[in-house]
Amino acid sequence: MDKQLVIALGGNALGNTPDEQKQAVLAAASHIASLVKNGYKIVIVHGNGPQVGMINLAFELAYKQNSKVSAMPFAECCAMSQGYIGFHLQNALQNAFFTQGITTHVSTAITQVIVNPHDPAFQRPTKPVGLFYTEASAREIRKERGYTFVEDSGRGFRRVVPSPEPVDIKEKGTIRCLMENGDVVIACGGGGIPVYRENGMLYSVDAVIDKDKAAAKLAEVIHADIFIILTAVPSVAINFGKKNQKWLGRITIDEAQRYIEEGHFAPGSMLPKVEAAIRFVKSGPGREAIITSLENAYKAVTEESGTIICS
Ligand code: ADP
Ligand code: MG
Repeated sequence: MDKQLVIALGGNALGNTPDEQKQAVLAAASHIASLVKNGYKIVIVHGNGPQVGMINLAFELAYKQNSKVSAMPFAECCAMSQGYIGFHLQNALQNAFFTQGITTHVSTAITQVIVNPHDPAFQRPTKPVGLFYTEASAREIRKERGYTFVEDSGRGFRRVVPSPEPVDIKEKGTIRCLMENGDVVIACGGGGIPVYRENGMLYSVDAVIDKDKAAAKLAEVIHADIFIILTAVPSVAINFGKKNQKWLGRITIDEAQRYIEEGHFAPGSMLPKVEAAIRFVKSGPGREAIITSLENAYKAVTEESGTIICS
């Protein structure tokens, strides 16, 4: 068995603080080690919401205290989060492999994800990041740095950044090469560092790419066989949280599309996952996507379990 898997790890696999994260990655590592032991080739994409928030906050506060500290662009904060989370995952996986006598190597690819500068998302930033500000200080920062602010449910003003679609993965060749060599690769962390191309050059931009969409794009461009989204639930449900809730097993992309139209999936959480899964399945023959929990990942890949989306 040497099927190639791209695994998108949800926020619950990392926790909210450095200590929680160290513990949480141990669990993630043991489940991933079982897949590696069975010959699966793996690329891991992780989220970074709380982590990039923490890094961004630290720089904002330092800048407030001392104007000699420069403001840190959001793209750089994302790059830092890839390094920090990559280190924890690398370390936990390497230790798990050592204790199980597995000789597989692990590395983290700082990953740039190419976006279209004309993506309509740049006209309407939607993703809130960083601190809450009063209206007056938000206005001042907007003048100084050109940020866009929105009022966030009565809690104050918050910066919003665009959430463009991933178009391509700059480091795809390197990632594929490492994966084919049998290494476990951690890539596209936090949805990747958004960059756009102009006259052949790449420039970073302050934006956030949806982690599940970026992972689906990576799975597509490195020609993975299976795309797995690991989150807090063992399966996707219709009528989620209602009396007539029903967990879904194997479904086709047409069925998934119909459930989307019927409004079964919450926009900020399950909807982007189902959409990413559909996109990957559509991108090539024989491709399948699975949405399940970390605990159920091994079973979902080796037997029928979780929600499997196929053509
Ligand atoms: P992650 O950090 O993994 O991206 P999210 O919280 O963004 O996790 O999304 C997963 C959550 O989506 C689940 O824990 C569940 O509470 C919620 N959810 C919304 N709609 C559904 C649905 N139809 N079926 C299953 N879970 C759903
Ligand atoms: Mg999410």
